[in-house]
Amino acid sequence: MRRRDVVFGIGGLSAAPMFQRVQQLTEKQLNTPTFQGPITCVAGVRPYRRHSFRLEREHVPSRPNKFLVHNYGHGGAGISLSWGVATKVRDLVKAHVQTISARDVAVLGSGVIGMTTARLLVDLGLRVTIYARDPWEKTTSAVAGGQWAPSKVDCADVQLAKDVMKISYQRFVADMGSRYGISKVPNYTKLPQKDLDTVIDLFGPDTLIPARETVQRLPFGHNMGSGFLYETLLIEPPIFLKQLRAELDANQVAVKHAVFSTPQDVFELPENIVVNCTGFGARELWDDKDVVPVKGQLAMLPPQPNLNYLFSRSGHMFPRKDAVVIGGTEEPCIENNTAVPAVCQDLVDDIKGVFGVSPMIERLPFHIDHPSKVDEVTPLIGGGPPHFNRCTQVQH
Ligand SMILES: Cc1cc2nc3c(=O)[nH]c(=O)nc-3n(C[C@H](O)[C@H](O)[C@H](O)COP(=O)(O)OP(=O)(O)OC[C@H]3O[C@@H](n4cnc5c(N)ncnc54)[C@H](O)[C@@H]3O)c2cc1C
Repeated sequence: MRRRDVVFGIGGLSAAPMFQRVQQLTEKQLNTPTFQGPITCVAGVRPYRRHSFRLEREHVPSRPNKFLVHNYGHGGAGISLSWGVATKVRDLVKAHVQTISARDVAVLGSGVIGMTTARLLVDLGLRVTIYARDPWEKTTSAVAGGQWAPSKVDCADVQLAKDVMKISYQRFVADMGSRYGISKVPNYTKLPQKDLDTVIDLFGPDTLIPARETVQRLPFGHNMGSGFLYETLLIEPPIFLKQLRAELDANQVAVKHAVFSTPQDVFELPENIVVNCTGFGARELWDDKDVVPVKGQLAMLPPQPNLNYLFSRSGHMFPRKDAVVIGGTEEPCIENNTAVPAVCQDLVDDIKGVFGVSPMIERLPFHIDHPSKVDEVTPLIGGGPPHFNRCTQVQH
């Protein structure tokens, strides 16, 4: 049993969390990953949006019969926030369909945002068609690691941020189990995990997620010194997205291949209710220059079922059914999703050093936990100068 003591009582959104606990007794030692086997390298582009993700109706004067809602720009947190933002869209559409007879809805995009949105619109009794350039297997959503954490995402509206975090987290908890690939897991970190600290500050300790604990010695064979323990969710994207797609199929939601170049292309669709969930694609399609690409790469090692914890904030290690995910990089302003094997090898070599499996190496600037990047993971809730503000031109 762990003894827990509350040791602090003040804090702010950007400071240390209001409450943390000190773990007094040493944990049982946990298995160290082997870091062996072939590395599969994957990459995706996080659709970060300055100031806030976009969740609103747009009135189009030239198309008064179109009810258009935007739902994109969730940065490094699209999986985590998906059910929350989808619920907000459902509520907007629900209010609209009470006033009209239209029942056909087009959802643009088949990533996690498009599929969760479509899933909730089906529950309203609407006929939903998804139009997308890429099937879910080829989206950024399928590349995500899968930790529930609102990282690299802005939301100027504090209440909206709290609503979507809470709705989403609670929906994932309700769906926990192997069917959706969702589990509650301990998350050991070397440094404070500022995105989870923000959640603890926003809601209070033990309200949405448990308070963080200070761990005097991290419970690994190699002595990493002190660290922190959080509890969060692991949502395994390959399982979760496949299950979502199966439920859409079971509800006769057609998924049609389509590539939209301009809003006019979108307005030519037969459906008068349209929800735009095109993620990073919205930068080009809706000419939204507040959407900034933040490329991320992950190394996938063969699965290791003896690992039952997450490790973050000195590199990360997420043991999933399909792979042990080693991350990651943060490469702002780069919009290609080309995986670079040498970069993934570096990610693995870096975390091997952290776990004492081989000598520590110098951390490279693209590493997500490079000292120059430590603040960029913190979600900007309630306003402030956006991260990645200096990205005026994107590299292809
Ligand atoms: C390396 C990495 C790790 C991550 N880890 C996590 C994590 O642990 N937890 C977490 O919550 N989030 C994580 N994320 C972030 C998460 O993956 C994204 O926020 C999320 O996938 C965005 O979902 P989306 O549905 O908006 O976009 P996407 O998944 O990119 O889907 C967009 C859809 O729109 C379609 N589309 C785009 N443009 C057009 C067009 N012009 N015409 C037709 N269709 C179009 C695409 O084909 C696609 O179907 C990570 C991201 C990366 C890159």
